[in-house]
Parts: sequence; structure tokens; C-alpha cells
Amino acid sequence: MKRVLITGAAGFLGSHLCDRFIAEGMYVIGMDNLLTGSLSNIEHLFPMENFEFYHHDVSKFVHIPGHIDYILHFASPASPIDYLKMPIQTLKVGSLGTHNLLGLARVKNARILVASTSEVYGDPLVHPQTEDYWGNVNPIGPRGVYDEAKRFQEAITMAYHNFHGLETRIVRIFNTYGPRMRVDDGRALPAFFSQAMRDEEITVFGDGAQTRSFCFVDDLIDGIYRLLMSDYHLPVNIGNPDEITIKDFAEEVIRLVGKGRIGYRSLPRDDPKQRQPDISLAKELLGWSPKISRTEGISKTYEYFKTVVI
Ligand code: UDP
Repeated sequence: MKRVLITGAAGFLGSHLCDRFIAEGMYVIGMDNLLTGSLSNIEHLFPMENFEFYHHDVSKFVHIPGHIDYILHFASPASPIDYLKMPIQTLKVGSLGTHNLLGLARVKNARILVASTSEVYGDPLVHPQTEDYWGNVNPIGPRGVYDEAKRFQEAITMAYHNFHGLETRIVRIFNTYGPRMRVDDGRALPAFFSQAMRDEEITVFGDGAQTRSFCFVDDLIDGIYRLLMSDYHLPVNIGNPDEITIKDFAEEVIRLVGKGRIGYRSLPRDDPKQRQPDISLAKELLGWSPKISRTEGISKTYEYFKTVVI
């Protein structure tokens, strides 16, 4: 049986990855320090014979007995308010955590996939963003702790590939949403849903003209799985190119929930003005493109929020 280690297993993406690898018939070792993750996301996996969980911080030395075929490094605070609150942990998990897992991959002769991000492009001057764009990142701004940790992660992962011949994969993830997103993680989508549902003001930052392109989680997980199984070691964008302004997105949420009103707030520093993945590479390499429209995805996500928003 193939054995896979997933870090950040109790988080939004990590828990969906656990589900996918279990469904593929693999043995899943989940690891999380529960800083931003929640056991409720993986509670359903504990009774299974092919799942085990380590409560551990990957920034510290990682030891796993037995063989491992694949490692997926998804541990990190990932929303702007989380990494503002936890700047040092964010830097450590992207740098020291990645280093530990690359070392583990070497001794286990495992293939490793690391979760990178559209944030490596910073506030992009190229639109849509292609993988060969180097980005426009402020290293000492509020987002620097996340962006630079992820840029370092890419650099060290490439170094292990080039110097040690390790089998590595790098996915650059664009804004993703779906069930198990934390209601209070401060990101636009859970914030807007919970505010509309509670009949609170919907906090649109700036004039709401900034854009994002939202990908439903099932599509993203499928892209990641295909990338892991491919033989391509350079970074690949995975996301949904369907771009929308934040103001229009707030209005979509208001229409779906049937209530809510927008209240404008100041724009956070270095907030990217536009973001849209160019996914030509993923299409060509992996035969992948997103299948779930925003209309379908946000109504599925709304059903989830109905179970957790009080
Ligand atoms: N945003 C907003 N109101 C909120 C939270 C976020 O207007 O309550 C904006 C934010 O300024 C950004 C966009 O929505 O322009 C997406 O923010 P999010 O935190 O979801 O993710 P990001 O893509 O910035 O990492």
C-alpha cells in the first residue's frame, strides 16, 4: 500500500487531500500542530485503518517510522490575518518546515510536493500570471512573511531537486474556497458569507475594484493530485481563471444569501490589485482545467456555512 504524509492535514486543503488519498486507496499519515487547523475537519478519518494522525509542528525535526512514498507539505497559516498574527510561525513552517520535510523525503526516497502560492507573484505587474513571471513582492511588508517564506520554499525545493536529484513538485495555488474553510479566517469569502448570514455589514476593503479568481476546492485537489503523479518538477499554477472584482463578488454573496449590505473599509497595505492564473501549463501538462463554476461552488459552500455559522 502506498503511504503518504500530508502536513497541515487538519486544515482546509490538507483535510480534503487526506480524503482524496484515502479514496485512492493509500495509507495516509496526517500531521498538524493545530495552530490554525481543526480536528473536526478530519474526525471522520480517525476510525479508518489506513489513517493515522501526528500532532506535531513540522518546523521541528520530523520522524516517521516505515516507508513513505509521497509527502505533501500543506502546513502554514494561509490567510492574511493569520500570518499577520503569526509572522514567525509562518516564516518557520515555510522555511524550516520545508527543510525538514525535504530531508525526510531524501531518507525515505519519497516524492515531495510543496504548496506554493500566487502570493509569490506579489502585487503582479503581469496579468494574468504565468509561471515564468518573477513577481513583485515587498519583502518587509505585512505579507512578506508569507510571500518570502513561500519563495524560499520554492528555492530550497529546487535546490534539493537539482543538487540531490530529489523528486519534487511545486504547486502555485490561487484563491481557493469550499467546505471546511474557517469562518473566521478573515478571507473575503468566509467573511462575506458569515457577515451576510448574520445580517452584519459586508466589509469590502478599498473600493472593491481589486480582483481575485476563485477556485472550488474539489477542482484544486484534482489538479494537485495530477501534478503529484506527473513527472514535472517546475512550478505549476492551479486555480480558476474566472476573475471577479471583490465588490461584484460581495454582491453575488448578497444575492445568494438574500440579505446583506456593503460597508467599505480601508484597503490593507500591499493588497494585490489583480490576480488571475494563466493555467495553460496545467492544461497542457496535466490535462486539467477547473470544472465547477463559481455559481455551483458558492452554493455548495453556502450549504456548509449554514452548518457552522451561528
Ligand atoms: N477583502 C475584503 N473584505 C474582507 C476580506 C478581504 O474586501 O473582509 C478583500 C482583500 O482586501 C483582497 C480580497 O478581498 O483584496 C481577497 O482577500 P483574501 O483575504 O480573501 O485573500 P488574498 O487573495 O488577499 O490573500
